[in-house]
Amino acid sequence: MAEKEEKTPGQQLREALLTQKKNGWDVVDEATEKAVFDYCEGYKTFLDRGKTERTCVDYTVELAEAAGFVPFERGMELHPGSKVYRVNRGRAVNLAVVGSAPLDQGVSITASHIDSPRLDLKPTPLYEDSELAFFKTHYYGGIRKYQWVTIPLELRGVVAMKDGSVVNVAVGSHPGDPLFTIDDLLPHLGAEQAKKPLGTAIPAESLNILVGSRPLKDDDGSDRVKLAVMKMLYDHYGIREADFISAEIEAVPAFNAVDIGFDRSLIGAYGHDDRVCGYAGLKALLDLDGAPVRTAVCVLADKEEIGSEGVSGMQSAFFETFVGDLCASQKVPLRACLEKSFCLSTDVTAAYDPNFAEVYEKNNSARVNYGIGLCKYTGSRGKSGASDAGAELVAYVRRLLDDKGVLWQMAELGKADQGGGGTVACYMANRNIDTLDAGVPVLSMHAPFETVSKLDCYMTYAACKAVYQG
Ligand code: MN
Ligand code: MN
Repeated sequence: MAEKEEKTPGQQLREALLTQKKNGWDVVDEATEKAVFDYCEGYKTFLDRGKTERTCVDYTVELAEAAGFVPFERGMELHPGSKVYRVNRGRAVNLAVVGSAPLDQGVSITASHIDSPRLDLKPTPLYEDSELAFFKTHYYGGIRKYQWVTIPLELRGVVAMKDGSVVNVAVGSHPGDPLFTIDDLLPHLGAEQAKKPLGTAIPAESLNILVGSRPLKDDDGSDRVKLAVMKMLYDHYGIREADFISAEIEAVPAFNAVDIGFDRSLIGAYGHDDRVCGYAGLKALLDLDGAPVRTAVCVLADKEEIGSEGVSGMQSAFFETFVGDLCASQKVPLRACLEKSFCLSTDVTAAYDPNFAEVYEKNNSARVNYGIGLCKYTGSRGKSGASDAGAELVAYVRRLLDDKGVLWQMAELGKADQGGGGTVACYMANRNIDTLDAGVPVLSMHAPFETVSKLDCYMTYAACKAVYQG
């Protein structure tokens, strides 16, 4: 071993004063490395089981009940360590582990969303053109339309019948199922299309899903392919064309989560945004050992991708009702609880991509493998729409994560005038809750196949755990 050399005054000064950014793999020990890979196996299953907000909720409830959580009924007696959950209309879910401190000391929240960009079927989706049957779609969230053609799609969702029953639809998720796709022009005839900007080359109304091509036999009427498809749907699900009116059927990519890279250090999948943070918050809550000091609340919201609106979005009073019912069990006013609460709004951020360096500001971008990215503000063009956490709050989180050995980095989403994005943070902050944005850096965000680092996934889980443990 070489003799340890004296550090020069410049080196000492550099170490003392300048930020030393390090790749997470150069920092973690062997036990943490193993924990990273183990954790991500569970996460990949969560992704495969939860390709829509509804299936995410179903699987969350399955995991929660296995961990001893029970449905939270209003007026239920609660004790430190009580584990409860409440589902919002099948599309969102809140969970809590009651702490030893009273609720007027506030709650520790992680809030993320479990809806992802996708293609929804229109209310009258099925039509036939040139003896091919299609479903019309209306895209949900910010998609780049050209990415959704010529990939395998599956259909998941529900059809609510007039008699009150609900039919579950899942085609493509079982081995041997047929899949669906949207076709694109061949290059031989695509010269004009190729001249168009990416954003307009594939118009929304051309995102029509191919669902059949075989005409009904022994019939000389019109729309024989459409009728044959409808007959199959009736035979299998008992639904008629009019029942699509009260349906929510989502076309999502038909591939499952896989390891990416020779070193298996990354995960490629549909729906990392934002199930990667949703699972982190959920798993951290499920793994809590006994009662935390402050009550821990995990929020898995719907509708973030279209503005957090509606009864199942983060702006819904469902959240106040849930925490209000917790507070009522201790006769604590909700507002007294919320003003002392802290929320880590966990949502993905953009990872610096050297292939598109021009849209990032390198000093303030999240890097793959550098841990969970904290965002003081999101928003776009002059912080518009951002909740912009206070400096004191950011200092609190720096200390919290450092004390627990969580790897984190500070991030902005792209260059200041380049664009931007929002999360649920502003809706939590508007409720008088101290809120900071944080999340996993993602490559190809909102694409049908997004990529994240396993180390960053694990560090987001570790950050959520740190929040709950206070
Ligand atoms: Mn998101
Ligand atoms: Mn998003």
